Amino acid sequence: MTGRILYTKPSITEVEIAYAADAARNGWGAHCYDYLYRFEEMFARHLGVKHAIATSSCTGALHMGLAALEIGPGDEVILADANWVASAAPITYLGAKPVFVDILPDSWCLDPDRVEAAITRNTRAILAVHLYGNLCEMDRLLEIGERHGLPVIEDAAEAIGSIYYGHRAGSIGRFGTFSLHGTKTITTGEGGVFVTDDSALYEHVLTLSNHGRARGQTRQFWADMIGFKYKMANIQAAIGCGQLERIDALIARKREIFNWYRDQLGTLPGIRLNPEPEGTTIGAWMPTAVFDAATRISRETLRSAFQAADIDARVFFHPLSSLPMFEPVRDNVVAWDIPERAINLPSYHDMSMEQLARVTDVVRKLIDDRVR
Ligand SMILES: *Cc1c(COP(=O)(O)O)cnc(C)c1O
Repeated sequence: MTGRILYTKPSITEVEIAYAADAARNGWGAHCYDYLYRFEEMFARHLGVKHAIATSSCTGALHMGLAALEIGPGDEVILADANWVASAAPITYLGAKPVFVDILPDSWCLDPDRVEAAITRNTRAILAVHLYGNLCEMDRLLEIGERHGLPVIEDAAEAIGSIYYGHRAGSIGRFGTFSLHGTKTITTGEGGVFVTDDSALYEHVLTLSNHGRARGQTRQFWADMIGFKYKMANIQAAIGCGQLERIDALIARKREIFNWYRDQLGTLPGIRLNPEPEGTTIGAWMPTAVFDAATRISRETLRSAFQAADIDARVFFHPLSSLPMFEPVRDNVVAWDIPERAINLPSYHDMSMEQLARVTDVVRKLIDDRVR
Protein backbone atom coordinates (compact mmCIF):
# COMPACT_ATOMS: atom_id res chain seq x y z
CA MET A 1 0.00 0.00 0.00
CA THR A 2 1.22 3.50 -0.76
CA GLY A 3 0.23 7.09 0.01
CA ARG A 4 1.49 9.50 2.63
CA ILE A 5 0.79 8.63 6.27
CA LEU A 6 0.11 11.77 8.31
CA TYR A 7 1.23 11.95 11.92
CA THR A 8 -2.07 13.25 13.33
CA LYS A 9 -5.50 14.12 11.98
CA PRO A 10 -8.80 14.73 13.80
CA SER A 11 -11.62 12.18 13.77
CA ILE A 12 -14.66 14.08 12.52
CA THR A 13 -18.03 12.36 11.94
CA GLU A 14 -21.58 13.38 10.98
CA VAL A 15 -22.18 14.21 14.68
CA GLU A 16 -19.65 17.07 14.72
CA ILE A 17 -20.77 18.23 11.24
CA ALA A 18 -24.44 18.33 12.28
CA TYR A 19 -23.69 20.28 15.49
CA ALA A 20 -21.46 22.77 13.65
CA ALA A 21 -24.18 23.30 11.01
CA ASP A 22 -26.78 23.79 13.74
CA ALA A 23 -24.55 26.33 15.51
CA ALA A 24 -24.01 28.19 12.22
CA ARG A 25 -27.76 28.23 11.51
CA ASN A 26 -29.22 28.80 14.98
CA GLY A 27 -26.46 29.57 17.45
CA TRP A 28 -26.82 33.31 17.54
CA GLY A 29 -28.69 35.93 19.58
CA ALA A 30 -30.29 34.29 22.62
CA HIS A 31 -28.61 30.98 21.68
CA CYS A 32 -25.08 32.30 21.17
CA TYR A 33 -23.65 30.42 24.18
CA ASP A 34 -25.75 27.23 24.13
CA TYR A 35 -23.04 24.90 22.80
CA LEU A 36 -20.34 26.70 24.78
CA TYR A 37 -22.04 26.11 28.13
CA ARG A 38 -22.89 22.53 27.17
CA PHE A 39 -19.28 21.89 26.18
CA GLU A 40 -17.95 23.27 29.48
CA GLU A 41 -20.39 21.18 31.48
CA MET A 42 -19.58 17.99 29.56
CA PHE A 43 -15.83 18.58 29.81
CA ALA A 44 -15.98 19.18 33.58
CA ARG A 45 -18.04 16.01 33.99
CA HIS A 46 -15.63 13.93 31.89
CA LEU A 47 -12.67 15.15 33.93
CA GLY A 48 -14.35 15.01 37.33
CA VAL A 49 -13.76 18.67 38.21
CA LYS A 50 -16.08 21.43 39.42
CA HIS A 51 -15.29 24.07 36.82
CA ALA A 52 -14.24 24.27 33.16
CA ILE A 53 -13.79 27.35 30.99
CA ALA A 54 -13.54 26.92 27.22
CA THR A 55 -10.80 29.07 25.71
CA SER A 56 -9.38 29.87 22.29
CA SER A 57 -6.21 27.88 23.04
CA CYS A 58 -4.29 26.01 25.72
CA THR A 59 -1.68 28.78 25.58
CA GLY A 60 -4.40 31.29 26.53
CA ALA A 61 -5.75 29.06 29.30
CA LEU A 62 -2.26 28.75 30.78
CA HIS A 63 -1.63 32.50 30.43
CA MET A 64 -4.82 33.31 32.35
CA GLY A 65 -4.24 30.70 35.04
CA LEU A 66 -0.72 31.97 35.71
CA ALA A 67 -1.99 35.57 35.72
CA ALA A 68 -4.69 34.62 38.24
CA LEU A 69 -1.97 33.19 40.50
CA GLU A 70 -0.46 36.69 40.25
CA ILE A 71 2.77 35.51 38.70
CA GLY A 72 4.75 38.43 37.33
CA PRO A 73 8.17 40.03 36.75
CA GLY A 74 10.97 38.49 38.84
CA ASP A 75 9.00 35.31 39.52
CA GLU A 76 10.12 31.84 38.45
CA VAL A 77 8.09 28.87 37.26
CA ILE A 78 9.73 25.45 37.13
CA LEU A 79 9.01 23.12 34.22
CA ALA A 80 10.70 20.33 32.29
CA ASP A 81 13.25 21.18 29.61
CA ALA A 82 11.66 18.61 27.26
CA ASN A 83 8.52 20.43 26.15
CA TRP A 84 6.63 22.21 23.42
CA VAL A 85 7.32 25.96 23.57
CA ALA A 86 3.63 26.71 24.32
CA SER A 87 4.12 25.59 27.93
CA ALA A 88 6.89 28.16 28.50
CA ALA A 89 5.65 31.09 26.42
CA PRO A 90 2.83 32.23 28.79
CA ILE A 91 5.35 32.42 31.67
CA THR A 92 7.38 34.91 29.62
CA TYR A 93 4.23 36.89 28.64
CA LEU A 94 3.90 37.76 32.35
CA GLY A 95 7.54 38.83 32.63
CA ALA A 96 8.36 35.76 34.72
CA LYS A 97 11.19 33.31 34.08
CA PRO A 98 10.76 29.69 33.00
CA VAL A 99 13.27 27.55 34.91
CA PHE A 100 14.04 24.41 32.94
CA VAL A 101 14.91 21.21 34.80
CA ASP A 102 15.78 17.73 33.61
CA ILE A 103 13.40 14.87 32.94
CA LEU A 104 13.29 11.25 34.06
CA PRO A 105 14.73 8.84 31.47
CA ASP A 106 11.66 6.57 31.47
CA SER A 107 8.66 8.96 31.57
CA TRP A 108 10.34 11.95 29.82
CA CYS A 109 8.52 14.12 32.40
CA LEU A 110 9.77 16.30 35.31
CA ASP A 111 12.38 14.75 37.61
CA PRO A 112 10.99 15.60 41.10
CA ASP A 113 14.48 15.74 42.67
CA ARG A 114 15.57 18.28 40.07
CA VAL A 115 12.40 20.28 40.72
CA GLU A 116 13.13 20.51 44.43
CA ALA A 117 16.76 21.45 43.78
CA ALA A 118 15.64 24.29 41.47
CA ILE A 119 13.37 25.99 44.01
CA THR A 120 14.53 29.50 45.00
CA ARG A 121 13.03 32.46 46.87
CA ASN A 122 11.52 33.56 43.57
CA THR A 123 9.79 30.29 42.65
CA ARG A 124 6.03 30.75 42.38
CA ALA A 125 4.76 27.52 40.77
CA ILE A 126 5.65 24.08 39.48
CA LEU A 127 4.29 23.36 36.00
CA ALA A 128 3.77 19.63 35.41
CA VAL A 129 3.41 18.83 31.71
CA HIS A 130 2.26 15.29 30.95
CA LEU A 131 4.46 14.84 27.89
CA TYR A 132 2.93 12.81 25.05
CA GLY A 133 0.26 11.65 27.51
CA ASN A 134 2.85 10.09 29.86
CA LEU A 135 2.16 10.98 33.48
CA CYS A 136 4.27 13.15 35.79
CA GLU A 137 4.91 11.79 39.29
CA MET A 138 2.12 13.90 40.74
CA ASP A 139 2.27 12.55 44.31
CA ARG A 140 5.90 13.57 44.68
CA LEU A 141 5.39 16.92 42.96
CA LEU A 142 2.37 17.74 45.17
CA GLU A 143 4.34 16.76 48.26
CA ILE A 144 7.25 19.02 47.22
CA GLY A 145 4.80 21.82 46.38
CA GLU A 146 3.11 21.51 49.74
CA ARG A 147 6.38 21.55 51.65
CA HIS A 148 7.51 24.72 49.86
CA GLY A 149 4.10 26.42 49.70
CA LEU A 150 4.00 26.27 45.89
CA PRO A 151 1.03 25.42 43.66
CA VAL A 152 1.49 22.53 41.23
CA ILE A 153 -0.29 23.20 37.97
CA GLU A 154 -0.86 20.80 35.10
CA ASP A 155 -0.53 21.36 31.37
CA ALA A 156 -2.54 18.32 30.30
CA ALA A 157 -2.77 19.37 26.63
CA GLU A 158 -1.39 16.00 25.57
CA ALA A 159 -3.02 13.94 28.31
CA ILE A 160 -6.71 13.54 27.50
CA GLY A 161 -7.47 9.99 28.63
CA SER A 162 -4.48 9.72 30.97
CA ILE A 163 -5.37 8.60 34.51
CA TYR A 164 -3.15 8.75 37.61
CA TYR A 165 -4.38 6.52 40.45
CA GLY A 166 -8.03 7.11 39.57
CA HIS A 167 -7.70 10.83 38.83
CA ARG A 168 -7.69 12.19 35.30
CA ALA A 169 -4.65 14.22 34.27
CA GLY A 170 -5.45 17.92 34.58
CA SER A 171 -7.78 17.40 37.56
CA ILE A 172 -5.04 16.89 40.15
CA GLY A 173 -3.15 20.19 40.50
CA ARG A 174 -4.37 23.67 41.46
CA PHE A 175 -5.58 24.05 37.88
CA GLY A 176 -5.21 22.19 34.60
CA THR A 177 -5.13 23.24 30.96
CA PHE A 178 -5.96 21.39 27.74
CA SER A 179 -5.50 22.00 24.03
CA LEU A 180 -8.14 21.30 21.39
CA HIS A 181 -5.79 22.05 18.50
CA GLY A 182 -6.31 19.88 15.42
CA THR A 183 -3.40 17.61 16.34
CA LYS A 184 -4.74 16.67 19.77
CA THR A 185 -6.90 13.70 20.88
CA ILE A 186 -10.11 15.76 20.68
CA THR A 187 -10.37 18.98 18.72
CA THR A 188 -12.35 22.12 17.98
CA GLY A 189 -9.90 23.22 15.27
CA GLU A 190 -8.23 25.65 17.63
CA GLY A 191 -9.25 25.78 21.27
CA GLY A 192 -8.43 25.00 24.86
CA VAL A 193 -9.90 24.43 28.31
CA PHE A 194 -9.05 25.74 31.78
CA VAL A 195 -10.20 23.49 34.65
CA THR A 196 -10.10 23.81 38.44
CA ASP A 197 -11.85 22.73 41.63
CA ASP A 198 -11.00 26.08 43.24
CA SER A 199 -14.14 28.21 42.94
CA ALA A 200 -12.39 31.53 43.68
CA LEU A 201 -9.73 30.80 41.06
CA TYR A 202 -12.48 29.85 38.61
CA GLU A 203 -14.30 33.18 39.12
CA HIS A 204 -11.04 35.07 38.68
CA VAL A 205 -10.13 33.30 35.41
CA LEU A 206 -13.71 33.59 34.14
CA THR A 207 -13.50 37.36 34.65
CA LEU A 208 -10.05 37.50 33.04
CA SER A 209 -11.35 35.48 30.06
CA ASN A 210 -13.99 38.08 29.26
CA HIS A 211 -11.99 41.31 29.20
CA GLY A 212 -12.12 41.66 32.96
CA ARG A 213 -15.92 41.82 33.08
CA ALA A 214 -17.07 39.99 36.19
CA ARG A 215 -19.99 37.60 35.98
CA GLY A 216 -22.99 39.34 37.46
CA GLN A 217 -21.70 42.81 36.63
CA THR A 218 -24.87 44.59 35.52
CA ARG A 219 -23.33 47.83 34.21
CA GLN A 220 -23.08 47.67 30.43
CA PHE A 221 -19.59 47.83 28.89
CA TRP A 222 -18.06 47.93 32.38
CA ALA A 223 -14.73 46.18 32.96
CA ASP A 224 -13.60 45.50 36.52
CA MET A 225 -9.97 44.83 35.58
CA ILE A 226 -7.75 44.43 32.53
CA GLY A 227 -8.40 40.94 31.25
CA PHE A 228 -7.78 38.89 28.13
CA LYS A 229 -9.77 37.83 25.11
CA TYR A 230 -9.31 34.07 25.05
CA LYS A 231 -12.89 32.89 24.60
CA MET A 232 -13.97 29.95 22.48
CA ALA A 233 -16.65 30.54 19.83
CA ASN A 234 -20.00 28.74 20.13
CA ILE A 235 -19.52 27.13 16.70
CA GLN A 236 -16.19 25.63 17.83
CA ALA A 237 -17.85 24.41 21.03
CA ALA A 238 -20.50 22.70 18.85
CA ILE A 239 -17.76 20.59 17.26
CA GLY A 240 -16.35 20.03 20.76
CA CYS A 241 -19.71 18.70 22.01
CA GLY A 242 -19.66 16.12 19.22
CA GLN A 243 -16.11 15.15 20.18
CA LEU A 244 -17.05 14.84 23.87
CA GLU A 245 -20.00 12.58 23.04
CA ARG A 246 -17.44 10.29 21.39
CA ILE A 247 -14.58 10.84 23.84
CA ASP A 248 -14.49 7.31 25.29
CA ALA A 249 -14.26 5.81 21.81
CA LEU A 250 -11.66 8.38 20.72
CA ILE A 251 -9.45 7.59 23.73
CA ALA A 252 -9.99 3.85 23.28
CA ARG A 253 -8.82 4.06 19.66
CA LYS A 254 -5.66 5.98 20.65
CA ARG A 255 -4.93 3.28 23.22
CA GLU A 256 -5.62 0.54 20.70
CA ILE A 257 -3.06 2.05 18.32
CA PHE A 258 -0.54 2.43 21.14
CA ASN A 259 -1.09 -1.16 22.30
CA TRP A 260 -0.51 -2.38 18.78
CA TYR A 261 2.80 -0.50 18.61
CA ARG A 262 3.70 -1.83 22.06
CA ASP A 263 2.99 -5.41 20.97
CA GLN A 264 4.87 -5.06 17.69
CA LEU A 265 7.82 -2.92 18.78
CA GLY A 266 7.98 -2.92 22.56
CA THR A 267 9.63 -6.33 22.68
CA LEU A 268 12.35 -5.58 20.11
CA PRO A 269 15.87 -5.04 21.45
CA GLY A 270 17.10 -1.47 21.87
CA ILE A 271 13.77 0.34 21.78
CA ARG A 272 11.53 1.86 24.45
CA LEU A 273 8.00 3.22 24.08
CA ASN A 274 5.88 5.38 26.41
CA PRO A 275 5.81 3.74 29.85
CA GLU A 276 2.61 2.95 31.70
CA PRO A 277 3.58 2.39 35.34
CA GLU A 278 1.43 0.50 37.84
CA GLY A 279 -1.59 2.55 38.92
CA THR A 280 -1.69 4.64 35.74
CA THR A 281 -3.35 4.54 32.35
CA ILE A 282 -2.01 6.67 29.53
CA GLY A 283 -4.19 8.37 26.93
CA ALA A 284 -1.46 7.60 24.39
CA TRP A 285 -1.77 10.88 22.51
CA MET A 286 1.63 10.39 20.90
CA PRO A 287 3.25 6.95 20.75
CA THR A 288 6.96 7.66 20.84
CA ALA A 289 9.94 5.37 20.34
CA VAL A 290 13.29 6.05 22.02
CA PHE A 291 16.24 3.98 20.79
CA ASP A 292 19.11 2.90 23.03
CA ALA A 293 22.31 4.81 22.32
CA ALA A 294 23.97 1.46 21.53
CA THR A 295 21.74 1.02 18.45
CA ARG A 296 23.30 4.16 16.90
CA ILE A 297 19.87 4.90 15.46
CA SER A 298 19.78 8.69 15.46
CA ARG A 299 17.11 11.29 14.84
CA GLU A 300 18.57 11.73 11.35
CA THR A 301 18.52 7.97 10.64
CA LEU A 302 14.88 7.92 11.71
CA ARG A 303 13.88 11.02 9.79
CA SER A 304 15.33 9.78 6.53
CA ALA A 305 13.96 6.23 6.91
CA PHE A 306 10.43 7.51 7.52
CA GLN A 307 10.73 10.11 4.78
CA ALA A 308 11.75 7.37 2.32
CA ALA A 309 8.63 5.42 3.34
CA ASP A 310 6.44 8.55 2.88
CA ILE A 311 5.50 8.58 6.57
CA ASP A 312 5.25 11.85 8.51
CA ALA A 313 6.90 10.76 11.77
CA ARG A 314 8.00 13.71 13.93
CA VAL A 315 11.12 14.44 15.95
CA PHE A 316 11.01 14.49 19.77
CA PHE A 317 10.73 18.04 21.20
CA HIS A 318 14.04 19.90 21.27
CA PRO A 319 15.05 20.97 24.78
CA LEU A 320 13.42 24.36 25.33
CA SER A 321 16.69 25.66 26.75
CA SER A 322 18.34 24.96 23.36
CA LEU A 323 16.05 27.48 21.63
CA PRO A 324 17.62 30.84 20.78
CA MET A 325 15.52 32.91 23.20
CA PHE A 326 16.63 30.95 26.28
CA GLU A 327 19.92 30.23 28.03
CA PRO A 328 21.11 26.66 27.35
CA VAL A 329 20.96 24.39 30.42
CA ARG A 330 23.48 21.69 29.49
CA ASP A 331 23.03 20.10 32.93
CA ASN A 332 19.71 18.74 31.70
CA VAL A 333 21.53 15.81 30.13
CA VAL A 334 18.50 13.54 29.69
CA ALA A 335 16.36 16.22 28.05
CA TRP A 336 19.26 17.05 25.72
CA ASP A 337 20.07 13.41 24.93
CA ILE A 338 16.73 11.68 24.28
CA PRO A 339 15.63 13.86 21.32
CA GLU A 340 18.83 12.76 19.50
CA ARG A 341 17.52 9.17 19.23
CA ALA A 342 13.72 9.31 19.31
CA ILE A 343 10.71 9.64 17.03
CA ASN A 344 6.94 10.23 17.33
CA LEU A 345 4.94 7.56 15.51
CA PRO A 346 1.76 8.41 13.55
CA SER A 347 -1.35 7.59 15.60
CA TYR A 348 -4.49 9.27 14.28
CA HIS A 349 -7.79 7.50 14.91
CA ASP A 350 -8.58 6.60 11.31
CA MET A 351 -5.26 4.85 10.57
CA SER A 352 -5.71 1.47 8.92
CA MET A 353 -3.97 -1.76 9.88
CA GLU A 354 -1.98 -1.55 6.64
CA GLN A 355 -0.76 1.92 7.57
CA LEU A 356 0.20 0.81 11.08
CA ALA A 357 2.08 -2.12 9.60
CA ARG A 358 3.97 0.22 7.25
CA VAL A 359 5.12 2.25 10.26
CA THR A 360 6.27 -0.75 12.28
CA ASP A 361 8.04 -2.21 9.22
CA VAL A 362 10.27 0.87 9.04
CA VAL A 363 11.23 0.54 12.71
CA ARG A 364 11.71 -3.21 12.56
CA LYS A 365 14.00 -2.91 9.54
CA LEU A 366 16.14 -0.29 11.27
CA ILE A 367 16.49 -2.51 14.34
CA ASP A 368 17.28 -5.56 12.19
CA ASP A 369 20.02 -3.66 10.34
CA ARG A 370 21.63 -2.27 13.50
CA VAL A 371 21.13 -4.74 16.27
CA ARG A 372 21.03 -8.24 14.89
C1 LIG B 1 -0.42 21.61 22.02
C2 LIG B 1 0.16 22.01 23.32
C3 LIG B 1 -0.01 23.31 23.82
C4 LIG B 1 -0.55 24.42 23.00
O1 LIG B 1 -1.89 24.31 22.76
P1 LIG B 1 -2.59 25.46 21.91
O2 LIG B 1 -4.03 25.07 22.02
O3 LIG B 1 -2.04 25.34 20.53
O4 LIG B 1 -2.28 26.75 22.55
C5 LIG B 1 0.45 23.60 25.10
N1 LIG B 1 1.06 22.68 25.84
C6 LIG B 1 1.26 21.43 25.38
C7 LIG B 1 1.92 20.43 26.29
C8 LIG B 1 0.83 21.06 24.10
O5 LIG B 1 1.05 19.84 23.64
